[in-house]
Amino acid sequence: MMETVTVRTSNEQAFNIQVSGLVQGVGFRPKVWQLAQRFDLRGHVSNNGNGVQILVAGEEDNLRHFIHDLTHNPPPLAKITEIFTMPISLSEIPEGTFVIAGSDKSAVQTGIVPDAAPCPECLKEILDPFARRFRYPFTNCTHCGPRLTIQEGIPYDRPSTTLKNFPLCEACLKEYHDPRDRRFHAQPIACHACGPKVWLERIDGKPLAVHSDMKLDEADAVCSLLRKGHILAIKGLGGFQLACDATQEETVRRLRALKQREGKPLALMARDLETIRRYCVVGEREAELLQSAAAPIVILKRHPEMTLAPGVAPGMSTYGCMLPNSPLHHLILCCMTHPIVLTSGNHAGEPQWINNDQANVHLKDIAEFVVLHDRGIAQRIDDSVVKVMDQVPRVLRRSRGYAPSPIWLPSGFEHSPAILAMGGELKNTFCLLKDGQALLSHHIGDLEDSLTYADYQRAISHYQRLFEHSPDSIAVDLHPEYLSSKLGRAQANGSHLPILEIQHHHAHFAACLVENGVRLTTEPVLGVILDGLGYGEDGTIWGGEFLLADYGGFTRLGSFKPVPMLGGPQAIKEPWRNTYAHVMAEMGWAEFAMNYSDLPLFDHFEMKPRMMLDRMLSHGINSPLASSCGRLFDAAAAAMGICTENVLHEGQAAMEMEALVDDETIRHEDELLAYPFSIPRLKSSGMPYVEPLGMWQALLGDLILHTPVPVMAARFHKGLANVICSMVTQCSHPPDGHGRHHTVVLSGGVFQNQVLFELVKHKLEVEGFTVLSNKQVPMNDGGIALGQAAIAAARSLQETNEVRSTCV
Ligand SMILES: [Zn+2]
Ligand SMILES: [Zn+2]
Repeated sequence: MMETVTVRTSNEQAFNIQVSGLVQGVGFRPKVWQLAQRFDLRGHVSNNGNGVQILVAGEEDNLRHFIHDLTHNPPPLAKITEIFTMPISLSEIPEGTFVIAGSDKSAVQTGIVPDAAPCPECLKEILDPFARRFRYPFTNCTHCGPRLTIQEGIPYDRPSTTLKNFPLCEACLKEYHDPRDRRFHAQPIACHACGPKVWLERIDGKPLAVHSDMKLDEADAVCSLLRKGHILAIKGLGGFQLACDATQEETVRRLRALKQREGKPLALMARDLETIRRYCVVGEREAELLQSAAAPIVILKRHPEMTLAPGVAPGMSTYGCMLPNSPLHHLILCCMTHPIVLTSGNHAGEPQWINNDQANVHLKDIAEFVVLHDRGIAQRIDDSVVKVMDQVPRVLRRSRGYAPSPIWLPSGFEHSPAILAMGGELKNTFCLLKDGQALLSHHIGDLEDSLTYADYQRAISHYQRLFEHSPDSIAVDLHPEYLSSKLGRAQANGSHLPILEIQHHHAHFAACLVENGVRLTTEPVLGVILDGLGYGEDGTIWGGEFLLADYGGFTRLGSFKPVPMLGGPQAIKEPWRNTYAHVMAEMGWAEFAMNYSDLPLFDHFEMKPRMMLDRMLSHGINSPLASSCGRLFDAAAAAMGICTENVLHEGQAAMEMEALVDDETIRHEDELLAYPFSIPRLKSSGMPYVEPLGMWQALLGDLILHTPVPVMAARFHKGLANVICSMVTQCSHPPDGHGRHHTVVLSGGVFQNQVLFELVKHKLEVEGFTVLSNKQVPMNDGGIALGQAAIAAARSLQETNEVRSTCV
């Protein structure tokens, strides 16, 4: 080797650069190393408690390029929140080359990157017959592959992952230690020689009778079995999945029956974008989402003429589609020219199974074959669901690929105490807050199922261990009967921690404030929170609220009309109960019978035990008042003949009504035909509320006129959007007549209705309001844990400040 003599010129500089954010375990140090080589810099890079520290010296211009490239072209999975550059003396950096320094383990952050779909390079490798990892189903590198699902403990390195029993072969080891390789320090790497293996079994244990001529390898055999109409269980990244051909109605129907999953649309997976485009309308944003590292299920409008088996998504005008999220899925689908159904491997309501023995026992009555492998799953995780609304991707279920990416809290929360927020009852997630960062868990599910509840408890301790989190206080929903509230209270009692009860809609509100970066010390803003049910501060059930709020607290400025939920929870399952309660509240039986006895709705009510129902209503027996927008949707949908008797899941009637909405009517019909609502004031409190009497008269009138249901559905949505905006305008003028509120938060599960959301948002913006809405956090109950945590933090900080100011 030749000695090189470097002449140092006077425009050399040295910097101490601190990079914070999600920069560990994503190939950041090798990236820094490569850039340092390219720009001829010396120094070193290491992980520390705040992220990555770089001590670097070199030519001024080169340093500038170095920092520019680092900032604008970081590794794909990195998320930089801040780069802090401080000039230091040249003497602090020794002569020599640039090196990657070992990290001080105790000071290293415990941040975990979400699982990522195969990157383009890895994908190329598994399809390249000359590559070492040709058709290897666990191919990954620093830029892709599993993370949360394999991580058992901290720090994040191979011995604390489920790959601990797979020692690297020589070739893999070389890649692992080479900073020029994209597999440098990639913990889960493996290959045919040293890594986990996949195999196919009959789930009943009998020998596999797949013809050898079609069995090139397991992946091809799986594809053939799917084509032949079999149902298969496949061990995916975060748990078992059930798969079948999406074009075979008989098979899809069998899958639904065996899984006991009625109604809810089934997710689809296709090998590439072109295949999805044949069945769905894919916009630019949607294409980006489908191809992103998170590889979520994207809700897409379907082409009316190209349909799959009707049983895939009955009553819907959309399909939920995704692209393969692991090399295994790519290999299975590579010869499949149309989409497959890919749904979680469980019976309805339960969490999906994650280990081989469980799958063999619990899925044998559903699947005939099972694709197993020996890479363990440390954390069960579902697929994420995203929908583009008003041109913006919005996460409806935040799980694989998104969780547990931290959400940075806005300014003011930097010194918040550590908080554990327990979330709600349905679509549960929980949240750990610490050091100005919120870790919102992946989607857990509905806690009323005992297995899901057990999984919830397990996931909380898993996260607490991985993120070294021990709470200073615990936040729960105000609802005394939520299992999450009960568990939170028990934990708080057990460890003598303060408990904070957070109102459901305030939590929705605060979650939206957090992700829109609204600072802690902001003035209260307006918000419309529409959802199914939430426990109100007055002990009644809320669900359509107009609030003025900040993080610390809220005032209820208006609501939907409180109407009895006839039969309590039964009203969620049988939409007609809401129709009956509404009609009785508006006009009573005599008036309804006099004017509308020709309607099928009249006959429908006649067949019900009206005497008993009326007694329940008049005496308030099992009929709690609820100001719920979700139940209003149920009532209107059932009146139009949509899901009149039963629904199979909450919100089904509203979803089917939305699917029917006539586009022409929405866009071009005279505003006067939109169903009218009024805004009177409640006698008891003087609070304005949304009164649907006019809507009911118009809707029932349309029924008499045999107006097509799609037109009625459109008129309902338009009318509802109108009254929401009128209410916001009315609430925006403070009683003292000074100033006006200009910002409006829109949140709550009802706003997942794209038609309603876009109508309301555009109307408010035309009227000069700034609208804040959810994007990275679900607007449904999957987002409230974040809101609970932020409110609890705000209250604690307020208290600390008060204590401080009284001490002064
Ligand atoms: Zn890769
Ligand atoms: Zn290997």
